Amino acid sequence: MGEEIIYQYRMKRTVLVVDDEEINQQILGGILEDHYEVLYASDGEEALAMIEEQGPLLSLVLLDLMMPNIDGFEVMQRMQQDVVLRGIPVIVLTSEEQLEIESLRKGAADFIKKPYDVPEKIIARVKRIIALFEDRSIIQSTEKDELTGLYEKSFFYEYAMLQDRFNPGEQRDAVVINISHFHLFNEIYGMEEGDKVLQVIGSTLEKYALRLGGIAGRSESDVFLAYVPRQSSYEELYNEVEQALNQKFQTHHVRIRIGIYLVGEDEEKLVPCFERAKTACNSIREKYHKKIAVFDDKLREKHVYSERLIHDIKDAIADKQLKVYFQSKYDVTGDTPEIISAEALVRWIHPELGMVSPGDFISLFEENGLIQLVDEFVWKESAIRVRKWQDEFKVTIPVSVNVSRIDLHDPEIKDKLIRIVNEARINPSDLHLEITESAYEEDTNRMVTVVQELKDAGFMIEMDDFGSGYSSLNMLTTMPFDILKLDMSLIRNIHKDDRSRKMLEIVMDIAKFLQVKVVAEGVEEKEQLDILKELDAQIIQGYYFSKPVSPEEFETLIKK
Ligand code: C2E
Ligand code: MG
Ligand code: MG
Repeated sequence: MGEEIIYQYRMKRTVLVVDDEEINQQILGGILEDHYEVLYASDGEEALAMIEEQGPLLSLVLLDLMMPNIDGFEVMQRMQQDVVLRGIPVIVLTSEEQLEIESLRKGAADFIKKPYDVPEKIIARVKRIIALFEDRSIIQSTEKDELTGLYEKSFFYEYAMLQDRFNPGEQRDAVVINISHFHLFNEIYGMEEGDKVLQVIGSTLEKYALRLGGIAGRSESDVFLAYVPRQSSYEELYNEVEQALNQKFQTHHVRIRIGIYLVGEDEEKLVPCFERAKTACNSIREKYHKKIAVFDDKLREKHVYSERLIHDIKDAIADKQLKVYFQSKYDVTGDTPEIISAEALVRWIHPELGMVSPGDFISLFEENGLIQLVDEFVWKESAIRVRKWQDEFKVTIPVSVNVSRIDLHDPEIKDKLIRIVNEARINPSDLHLEITESAYEEDTNRMVTVVQELKDAGFMIEMDDFGSGYSSLNMLTTMPFDILKLDMSLIRNIHKDDRSRKMLEIVMDIAKFLQVKVVAEGVEEKEQLDILKELDAQIIQGYYFSKPVSPEEFETLIKK
């Protein structure tokens, strides 16, 4: 369908005429307006703003060189610095012969002499340059995603924007489809089978979108996009995709989620609209009874809050709004429990929002990589504290820091951590790295390599949140780690029902077999502690002994 759409929507291309003299604008406009959509700018600054706004929708810029403030050369130079804008051809308008050569060298595609030649010649030049550049850009970029045949992300947005332009006043919806736990599907059934799932969803969505007069695309791995005229419900889309999947895969179940954003009339950019649809889609990630979500006021509020946090975090680190709290881990093997280490847990004391809990920002910052800033800060502060306690109290209390899955993809992670312990003058073994169980779900082999390297460098590895997600016993034998942290969910009911207790017994047996230490997290009650001791658990962390506390309070705990 691609060619049709381009043809249909691209019949009248857009050309920008930049000249500070109105008479020149009028002359060129008069020549071009029958053939093109013509926009005008009267100086370099206005031109740049329009070029940026129009982006790839602009087929050509006709550019005067001599203008006050930002001249034509500078406009070209700025365009050259941008990967998208670089692709828009520029024809320079000049009366000075020696400037022609210079402008060609600076990236102009051609030039037109002032005073202007006969209209036919100008039209011919403009046509030729546009055709030349369109051919070139088609060769340079792949418009369709190879696997599904849907539009690749940037083309999708471009054509979606064109649909808006050519159907003014029509209300449209941004639709995002995502597959739940797709990486698990790939792991269980293999990539080839996973690819087939993507193809089935892709072709079903494309048919649906075309039928409504919209378009469909694929953003990344299992994220699909569609831009369609406003619908009252998306049940039909859901059912069509589900049916197609059931037909193709009789044995394995694939679950999809749909997120919708109702695009407003005054909306200028489409990418944020699709981000909101995605937010809606993510909001039902763990809600198995909900399959379709519309971006509503509640989500809007949350979205605004998230945006605020993303905006504020960099300053927050510089302004020391982030604090590292410590929660003690107690060794309970002796007669009296003793603090043997602590977990570093970040707190954000925001000057206007108050205490923001990590639950609100960790996964948000994982999505955009900002988590690395937070984690590096926490690692540094923790290392400095360990050293301080050694100096002041003559004891070594190792600190466990959380390491996000995102950090593990950083090729510098080992060097970073080593630099931090060296600068604080502590041993790598005094910094324990808590790596959440689910970090291993994606790209298992690579994770094993990275974590093994960290272990070899002397850091103690703790597998965090064990039992909270889709743990597999197989993982326990492949992952390198020294300490197993049992998630709260494994502990919560051990004093209330036999099955939970039995489950815990089994996990403790496995840990014994693997010869790794166990830390039980989230211990709140004396009865839980007693059962854990009976089962030979050595280390306990939880409110029963202590909540996470400020470094100052933690220091009084050490003194005691
Ligand atoms: P986590 O690593 O599993 O940390 C344990 C969480 O359980 C902490 O929540 C802690 O306050 C809470 N907790 C401890 N004992 C009890 C208890 O007895 N009962 C209950 N109900 N809760 C208890 P917190 O501090 O809100 O942190 C939540 C999660 O955020 C952490 O889970 C960790 O995954 C993440 N996180 C915290 N700080 C950082 C950080 O600096 N970097 C990264 N990447 N993640 C962090
Ligand atoms: Mg942890
Ligand atoms: Mg945990």
